[in-house]
Amino acid sequence: MIPRNVNVVLQRIRAAEKRFNRSPGSVNLLAVSKKCSIEQIIGAYQMGLIRFAESYLQEAEAKMIRLADYGIEWHFIGPIQSNKTSGIAERFDWVHSVDRLKIAQRLSEQRPPQLGNLNVCIQVNVSSENTKSGVALNELPALAESVSQLPNIELRGLMAIPAPSADFERQRLPYHLLYEALQCVKTLGLETLGQKKVGHNWDTLSMGMSNDLEAAISEGSTFVRVGRAIFGNRIT
Ligand SMILES: *Cc1c(COP(=O)(O)O)cnc(C)c1O
Repeated sequence: MIPRNVNVVLQRIRAAEKRFNRSPGSVNLLAVSKKCSIEQIIGAYQMGLIRFAESYLQEAEAKMIRLADYGIEWHFIGPIQSNKTSGIAERFDWVHSVDRLKIAQRLSEQRPPQLGNLNVCIQVNVSSENTKSGVALNELPALAESVSQLPNIELRGLMAIPAPSADFERQRLPYHLLYEALQCVKTLGLETLGQKKVGHNWDTLSMGMSNDLEAAISEGSTFVRVGRAIFGNRIT
């Protein structure tokens, strides 16, 4: 089941890259393993996947201990409470869901320097129906400027979880907004931050899930976060 699913997802990604004139291999597959078992993760790993994403720190820590020898790259994609930042800063390679400065500051302070920079994306609220998390578009430039100054973390780009839709053109709209937001932040960055911190690497758009990864790839996604299409429906 998992081997076949991984192949189907990889084929969908390659087909979308081709159809939307994206360079081959420019879209990375992130396997969302929240609520999945160790056996399921190993199944996907054996198909060549090395990037896994988790939404709950405690659940992730238990898996990381058992999978310590696998050389997995771990991504945190869930809501972040202040009391969880140290565990996240110590254990993950990427955090996609930074949506306020306080969280970024804590991750920056708590990242062990010997681990190198923690890669972070700012989560943006791009569809008004889904107001739960993500910074508002109008507050993004100020947050990006502040986050990009912090040591031990490196701002890499933006992430969004839009309200679901079954219609392709509707799926594209919020992803287009996120693409535009990244271009805007990049321009601002060159103007206002260029002197202070060089070598910006804002190359990441974390967008697209099982049901809408083609729409996200059409708008420039560089990480699709895929759970159910690989592992089947989650038991909640
Ligand atoms: C669960 C989750 C996903 C995966 O969604 P699927 O529909 O299972 O592909 C992607 N991103 C985030 C932030 C998630 O929480």
